[in-house]
Amino acid sequence: MQTNQTLKTPDLTLIVPCYNEAGNIPCFYRSATSVFREANVSLELVFIDDGSADDTLSALHRLARTHDHDVIVQVISFSRNFGKESGLYAGLQAARGRIVGLIDADMQQDPKIACQMYHYLQEHNDCDVVAAYQEERHERRLLRWSKHMFYRTFNAASDEIDIPADMSDFRLFRHDVATALLSMPEYFRFSKGLFAWVGFRTHAMPYTPHQRHSGTSSWSFSQLFHYAMGGILAFTTWPLKIAKWTGVVSALGALIYLLYVVIVDYGIKGIAVPGYPTLVCLILLLGGVQLLVLGIIGEYLARDYLEGKHRPLYIARERIDSAYDDESVQESDDIPAGTKEETA
Ligand code: UDP
Ligand code: MG
Repeated sequence: MQTNQTLKTPDLTLIVPCYNEAGNIPCFYRSATSVFREANVSLELVFIDDGSADDTLSALHRLARTHDHDVIVQVISFSRNFGKESGLYAGLQAARGRIVGLIDADMQQDPKIACQMYHYLQEHNDCDVVAAYQEERHERRLLRWSKHMFYRTFNAASDEIDIPADMSDFRLFRHDVATALLSMPEYFRFSKGLFAWVGFRTHAMPYTPHQRHSGTSSWSFSQLFHYAMGGILAFTTWPLKIAKWTGVVSALGALIYLLYVVIVDYGIKGIAVPGYPTLVCLILLLGGVQLLVLGIIGEYLARDYLEGKHRPLYIARERIDSAYDDESVQESDDIPAGTKEETA
C-alpha cells in the first residue's frame, strides 16, 4: 500500500548485501534487531538480494511479511548478480537513517560491534565515520601476504589517497558521507578507495570477524586478485607511466651499450662484435615491453569505454519497503513517501 504519509527518520540504517545467504538471514535479523532494540535505537534494514541462486529472496519475502513493527525492512532484489559493490550503492540510495552502516549478512561482522560504532558516533560529534579493522587476520599465509602487498602497492601507486591496511567495509557513517558516496556513480566501484577519496574524519575500531554462520565465502583467490587490480586501475594512472620510464631506461641502456661496443670492444680491443644473439634478445625484450604497455593502455581504454556507456549499476526487479507497503505505516515527521523505481 503506497501512502502520502511521511515517516519518522530511523536512527540507523544497516545495508546488508546478500548473495546466497538464505541460511543466515533469520539469524542476522534476530541478532541485529535485539541488539539495537536493547540500545533503544530505531532501525531500518535494507537487504539487497544480489541475484541469489538459493532461497535468499524467499527468506527476505518471509521477513518482509513477519518483521517486528518497530523495524523498517526494505528489500531490493536485483535481476541478476551485479556484485557486492552495486548492492552497497543500491543500499545507499535507499537508506533513510541519520546514520548509515554497511554489514555483511553472514554474521562474520557482529551487530554488537555495529552498536558500539553507533554509540561512538553519537558520543563524538567531530567524527563522521567509524570503520572496523581486523586486529588479527586468521587467514592463509599466502592470502595475508597478498593483501599486505596490495595495500603497499596501492598506497605507493596512488597520488591522491592512502587506504589504511586491514580497514574493512564494515563501517557506520553519517548520512552526509552516504550522500558524498552517491555523488560518485562510477561503474567500476572500489569501496575502500571511494571511502578514502571522499575523506571525512574516520575513527578505526578493532574487531575480530567470526566464522560464517552458514554457507561459504563467494570470493575466490582469483576474484580477489581481479578486484584488487581493479582498485589500483580505478584510483591511479601510475601504470600508464610505465611506458615512459621503460622507454627512458631502455634508451639509456642502449646508448651505454653502443658506446661500450664502439669504444671498448671495437676501438680499444679491436674485435668485430658478433651481433646476432644480442639483437634477438633485444628485439624479444623490447617487443614484450611494448605489448605489456599496450595491454595496460588497453585496460584503461576498456574501462573508459564501459564507463562511457553510462549503464546503470544494477537493475532491480523487485522492491519492498515495509514503511510504505505495510498496514502499520508509522506516523510522520520528516521523510517524504518514496516512489518505486526499477533501475538506478
Ligand atoms: N555478496 C554480494 N554479492 C556478491 C558476493 C557477495 O552481495 O556477488 C555479499 C555476501 O552475501 C556477504 C558479503 O557480500 O553478505 C560479503 O561476502 P562474503 O562473505 O562472500 O565475502 P568475505 O566475507 O569472504 O570477504
Ligand atoms: Mg563473509
